[in-house]
Amino acid sequence: MTRDRLTVVVAAFNEAQSLPELHRRLATVLDAMAAGDRVDGGVLYVDDGSTDDTWAVLRSLAAADRRVSLLRLSRNFGKEAALTAGLDRVVDGAALILDADGQDPPELIPRFVARWREGYDDVHGTRLAREGEGWFKRASAHGFYRVMHRLSKTPVPTDTGDFRLLSPRALAALRELRERHRFMKGLFGWIGFNRIAVPYRREPRLAGRSKFNAWRLWNFALEGITSFSTAPLRMATYAGVATALVAFGYGLWIIVKALFWGDPVAGWPTMMAVILFLGGVQLVGLGMIGEYLGRLYEESKQRPLYLVDSWRPAEGVCSGTP
Ligand code: UDP
Ligand code: MG
Repeated sequence: MTRDRLTVVVAAFNEAQSLPELHRRLATVLDAMAAGDRVDGGVLYVDDGSTDDTWAVLRSLAAADRRVSLLRLSRNFGKEAALTAGLDRVVDGAALILDADGQDPPELIPRFVARWREGYDDVHGTRLAREGEGWFKRASAHGFYRVMHRLSKTPVPTDTGDFRLLSPRALAALRELRERHRFMKGLFGWIGFNRIAVPYRREPRLAGRSKFNAWRLWNFALEGITSFSTAPLRMATYAGVATALVAFGYGLWIIVKALFWGDPVAGWPTMMAVILFLGGVQLVGLGMIGEYLGRLYEESKQRPLYLVDSWRPAEGVCSGTP
């Protein structure tokens, strides 16, 4: 029987405390799969410009384990870019994305591999429970998936993170998408192919704190919506049409009123209310256009998605780049 190749891609930003424990668990799983499931596993750690000891920790892991490849970006480019950099370098076999903080249990990898072998291209973990996350994060995540679902035609499965396995052809398809504003959950949905969910319990972090505070999550949500939907622009149009209709009706009423009952100067409150309301609506509309325009501008600059500081492939891994 042939053996399959699987590369586990882990983006890490200041995860020095979690990585040794994570790698220990991961190595156990890879050993078991190498023996039982005929899978040649490797790990690619992407250091996303960490400022703590992450790189030193990763180098010691690579020195002790020949399956480990290391990639270091020139600065912190954000998780999505770090993952892209990692996936770009998986030229052989499937890739599996795992968080560095142990929230996605590596022990589930064999289940993902089993699904892949059944013929699925995109095997994604869906969270049954989110332990160690506050009510605010849960509620906002819940709201976000609903809004995304309503606004976008691209399927973004609910409560699905980046914990997923991509078959070689899904990986190749993903590599074609070189947009700068990378909302990965949406990109995975966009490429299509055979998709299946693997439910799992998301564990608390091994150490440290989440890098995504409320503000970053809000921007992340904006990213998702503007990258995969132009519905807000259309809403601005509808809001404009609605206000114009109301204003037209009200204008008629004022004329009729002036003709029949004269025009004593009054109505300052109404005037102020209308002016402020219209000003607000216009600013919101402009802001929406601005969001899209800004992204268009970023896109038009055609900068690379990330810059590499150091690339140390494990033995037998060829140095594939986009
Ligand atoms: N991460 C990254 N670059 C960043 C922020 C986060 O590579 O700029 C990594 C981080 O090290 C972790 C994963 O992305 O492996 C998920 O981050 P985190 O646990 O902070 O997010 P959460 O699980 O709270 O959504
Ligand atoms: Mg996490």
